[in-house]
Amino acid sequence: MLKTSEGTLDPSDWNAFRLQGHRMLDDMIDYLENLRDQPVWQPMPEEVKHSFQQALDDGQHDLENAYAIFLKNVLPYALGNVHPGFMGWVHGGGSPVGMLAEMLAAGLNANLGGRNQAPIEIERQVVQWVRELFNFPESASGLFVTGTSMANLLGVLIARTARLGASVRHKGLTSDNRQLVAYTSAGAHVSIVQAMDIAGLGSDALRMIPVDSQHQIDIAALELAIAEDKKSGMMPFFVAGTVGTVGVGAIDNLQAIAELCERENIWFHVDGAYGALAMLAPDIAPRLQGIEHADSIAFDFHKWGQVPYDAGFILVRDGELHQNAFASPAAYLRRENRGMAAGSPWPCDFGPDLSRGFRALKTWFTIKVYGAEKLGQVISNTCALAQHMQQRIEAELCLELLAPVALNIACFRYRGIDANRLNADLVVALQESGIAAPSTTTINGQLAIRAAIVNHRTTVSDIDALIDTTLELGSRIAKSIQS
Ligand SMILES: *Cc1c(COP(=O)(O)O)cnc(C)c1O
Repeated sequence: MLKTSEGTLDPSDWNAFRLQGHRMLDDMIDYLENLRDQPVWQPMPEEVKHSFQQALDDGQHDLENAYAIFLKNVLPYALGNVHPGFMGWVHGGGSPVGMLAEMLAAGLNANLGGRNQAPIEIERQVVQWVRELFNFPESASGLFVTGTSMANLLGVLIARTARLGASVRHKGLTSDNRQLVAYTSAGAHVSIVQAMDIAGLGSDALRMIPVDSQHQIDIAALELAIAEDKKSGMMPFFVAGTVGTVGVGAIDNLQAIAELCERENIWFHVDGAYGALAMLAPDIAPRLQGIEHADSIAFDFHKWGQVPYDAGFILVRDGELHQNAFASPAAYLRRENRGMAAGSPWPCDFGPDLSRGFRALKTWFTIKVYGAEKLGQVISNTCALAQHMQQRIEAELCLELLAPVALNIACFRYRGIDANRLNADLVVALQESGIAAPSTTTINGQLAIRAAIVNHRTTVSDIDALIDTTLELGSRIAKSIQS
């Protein structure tokens, strides 16, 4: 039983609490130090799943007991994206410094909606670093959000209000408005589709423009689609280019999109969920040329930036348009020049969230401690590892590369009859092996093993382990399908 002091939630014995806290910290540091001794992932036994179906009050109210459950039933059955062998989806690896920063943030229990406090200045410091990184003007605004899905939604909403004027915020979309239409590539993330849906514009008003052989948006097709929509009396208002498509890691021709949007007076948004931070890597940044012309950029610190979840971000060139899309005066949020209600505008003026956590602190610590250069090296390194993976794939007769490796993602498959089934089974077997964990995608109707290298801990030996295990399990599964 955790004894608490006089009706509060604070412990009556701070020293015992301190010891327990130190044990937890030591255990988590051990865990990170010894990740390689653990499988990437392991299936959760039924009894572990069932252990989370207890009644609201089990009468046990004890920190040590709750922590024992965490150690036994949670820690071993997490997804494993901290592990160097994790290559599924696009997941960040986090970092030891980020973990400590999360603890500090929780201790402060800061609410970053606004008001006059140093945590807000930390968020403003990160906003300033982001402006600098993308060569955006001082007047640009930035906001932490959960992730790029949310940032893409904000991008659509800001572009809508910029186009129709602030009156759309009270009148809504009326029959006077021409139909707003948006454009992105067939390789874009589903969150752009969702953004159009949630914003009330309808996902049918999003044109999925075909991609070329490099999986980049086809600029001529984009131009044609805009011209046709204009001819039909619609109002093109938003183009989303992608840096690092979720399927294969392609980078759209941002310069060409920027010029087209400039000419057509269309909002140019970049979904750079994981790829935009390649600006930190001098060898990759030139391929993002044109991003500095974007009206808004959505990206995640929690992917390539290695900041613990969650830490999404939106940067908006015109901070005033950004604020106009969200600021909502309220009597209880009155601003002052002095006192705790000073320092307007506040983060809550730039998005739908009022109460907000201190995502900025773990990001600030990550950048401050590791430095932009080192973070950029991590990004370059994951791309070099993807090249190594490509070479290994191309050297094996049983393996077939299914898309060019543009950044840090390799898509390939094991050759054989009934290849889609074979490779789906193979990916599950790889995940269950605990050695390496890719995921899947579909490219031109072919099921691909998709390995996205995002984690700073991944090395050449992890890539080799993935390929070697793929060959071993692949041959076994191919035989079982044949027989
Ligand atoms: C991951 C990803 C998203 C979604 O970001 P979340 O942080 O998961 O919300 C959007 N677009 C692309 C290209 C992504 O890779």
